Amino acid sequence: MSARSTLRIPTPETATALLSRYLDEEGLSEDSLMRAVDLIQQRTEVFLSDALAETERAAGFRSACSAGCGFCCHTLVSVSPPEAFYVARHLETAFEPDARAALKARVIASAERTAGMDGGERYVAREPCPFLRQDDWLCGLHTARPLVCRAMHSGSLAACKQAYDTRDATVPTPTMAVFFENTKAYMSAYISALRPRGLAIYPVELSMALRVIWQEEDAMARWLGGEDIFAPASLGVREVVRKVEKV
Ligand code: SF4
Ligand code: SF4
Repeated sequence: MSARSTLRIPTPETATALLSRYLDEEGLSEDSLMRAVDLIQQRTEVFLSDALAETERAAGFRSACSAGCGFCCHTLVSVSPPEAFYVARHLETAFEPDARAALKARVIASAERTAGMDGGERYVAREPCPFLRQDDWLCGLHTARPLVCRAMHSGSLAACKQAYDTRDATVPTPTMAVFFENTKAYMSAYISALRPRGLAIYPVELSMALRVIWQEEDAMARWLGGEDIFAPASLGVREVVRKVEKV
């Protein structure tokens, strides 16, 4: 960003300090953690709104993204365990029982079908995120979608479509690195603030993490108690390195 920018970009250090202070004040519980995720989501929306305005002003960048555009939703979704619990809670409160049961079945089927596939392999296979609605390509999670999805902004719909049509994720799509700084900062903060409190925390794949949450009894209580329940959803070093390289 230019020297005149007033955009306040979170860093891993500032985001960790913020989350640690919150947890010191509120204590660590299911409710406080879910509120923390909610607050981070809200801060992220403000940051991205400001960042989009700033990049348009300073660099002429215009996001081509719109509702119903889901070419980019055919890859692996990397989240922190608190975000996975937040999505699970959202499904319990925002969907009628029949719709919830159908969505859970879709997520579990996707987790089993894609186990071991990295983001590139999912992209080539056109494996959709299970939350991408097939009739209208809207995000079925929209208000609770993860940080990594919120940061995704392309300046060229044509480039995204070309990448999808040719199954080639290396087609360059114009974006701005600053959009991802917030995601990197808070992904890092979840780990740096919660690991010293005895939690087993690392980046996880969303569908498999939800499968763990639904299949393990008292998943939240056990995880808050220090149990390492997310190993089946853990993202290997290879995938994390690739993601960092991409941004
Ligand atoms: S990143 Fe590309 S595919 Fe995704 S919503 Fe934006 S324009 Fe559409
Ligand atoms: S959660 Fe929503 S925005 Fe993110 S990949 Fe899935 S459908 Fe797309």
